[in-house]
Order: sequence, then structure tokens, then C-alpha cells
Amino acid sequence: MQKCEQLYEGKAKKVFLTENPDVLIVSYKDDATAFNGLKKGTIVGKGAINNRMTNLLFQRIEAEGVPTHYVQELNDRETAVRRVEIVPLEVIVRNVAAGSFSKRLGVPEGTELAEPTIEFSYKNDELGDPLINSSFAKALNVATSSEIETIKKYAFMINDILKLEFLKAGLRLIDFKIEFGRFHGKIILADEVSPDTCRLWDVESGDKMDKDRFRRDLGNVEEAYVEVARRLGLEIEKK
Ligand code: UDP
Repeated sequence: MQKCEQLYEGKAKKVFLTENPDVLIVSYKDDATAFNGLKKGTIVGKGAINNRMTNLLFQRIEAEGVPTHYVQELNDRETAVRRVEIVPLEVIVRNVAAGSFSKRLGVPEGTELAEPTIEFSYKNDELGDPLINSSFAKALNVATSSEIETIKKYAFMINDILKLEFLKAGLRLIDFKIEFGRFHGKIILADEVSPDTCRLWDVESGDKMDKDRFRRDLGNVEEAYVEVARRLGLEIEKK
């Protein structure tokens, strides 16, 4: 697989064209941002961890019947993926109240929800990814009715799969953000699933093992990422 011209550089990844028009190569960076880019830093080793963890989880998700963009891991940081047109929605599923949900609704962090919830943010950095509903998404031509139904069905299936995988690793899946894309007209899972995009709390101690350590200056950020990866069975060298 040959890396050609760079197509795009985002906050956490670079994306390259390949000789196959249906395939891109993503390259994960160690750069970390939070609060819509206001807080910037580096989490050493994060790129490799997020790449390998996403690939492991995407293969499990695919095996359970949700199509993903995963094609092939090329090395620690780089993966070949199907080229999709991203649906500009951040799809957030929650099992336990935290973060913006707790703030907006006045529900203390850690409150178990009666059932998993789904919400959509419109992906737009200038507007700060505003919260929208499916009616807005349809009205804005962001997605069709049937695409939204598929996205909702897949998001809850992914929640069931991830909850179990993380529980086996001694981690509670509090909430997560995923993104979908269109590949030859079909909705498939794209982007990543990693401690950057999930809230993961240690089952025993309740310790936060995710990007909140960076967002909230809790320390031991690198250590938490390495620990999550190791618990999922990935061999990660100490840096
Ligand atoms: N999230 C993300 N990218 C974003 C916003 C949120 O990956 O731009 C993830 C976040 O890590 C958490 C979940 O989505 O696992 C829910 O985040 P929330 O809406 O509570 O926002 P936050 O408190 O992170 O601002």
C-alpha cells in the first residue's frame, strides 16, 4: 500500500491518498486538543495506542455485524481505511451521566442512566459542534431518515459490543463519540474508538482512564492510555 499526497491534516490525524481511490491511509499523531482546540498538548505514545486500539475494536465491531472503514493496519501509527464521505454528525452514546450531559441537565457525574441515550452534534468547529436532533439533521440535509435510523441502530449495537469489551478489561464505558461515513451509498463506522473519544472508568477504583485526565489536568495521562491498551491485550512498549 503506497502513501501518496496528503489529503488532510486534522487535530489528531493526517490522512493520505493511496493509488486506490477507495482507500486512504490515516496516520495518528500524539497531538492532543480539548475544548474545541483551546487547550493543546502532546500525549506521548497516544498515536500508536489510538491506532492499534481502534483497529482491534473495529474488527470486533465488524465481526458483530456493523460495517466499518477498517482495511489493514500498516504499522503502529498507520492504517488503511475505506474512503468515505463523513456524515457531519458527532454521535454520542451515554450509559452514565458525565461531562456536558451532567452540566446541561444538572445530573451529577457518575449517575447511571435508566437506559443508554443517543445525541447528535453538528460537526462544525466554528460553531463549536452544536447539539442538534434528528429533525434538524434531516432539515439541514446532513443525513436522510433512513441513514439516521441506521446510525441509531449501529450506535446502540456498538455500545453493547464496547461495553462488554471494556468490562472484560475492568473498565466501565461511561460514554463515547463515534462518526459514520458513506461508502458507495452505505453507512459504515469511521474515525476512531480510543481513550480520546470514550470515557472509561476503572471498575474497582472509579479512576478516570481517558482524555479527561488531559482535559482536567489530572496527571498520569500517558500511563492511563498505556494501561487501557494493555488491558485490552495490546502489547505496548514503555516509552
Ligand atoms: N467527545 C469526543 N469529541 C468531542 C466531544 C466529545 O470524542 O468533540 C467524547 C468525549 O470524550 C466523551 C463523549 O464524547 O466520551 C461525551 O462528551 P461530552 O458531550 O460530555 O463533552 P465534553 O464533556 O467532553 O465536552
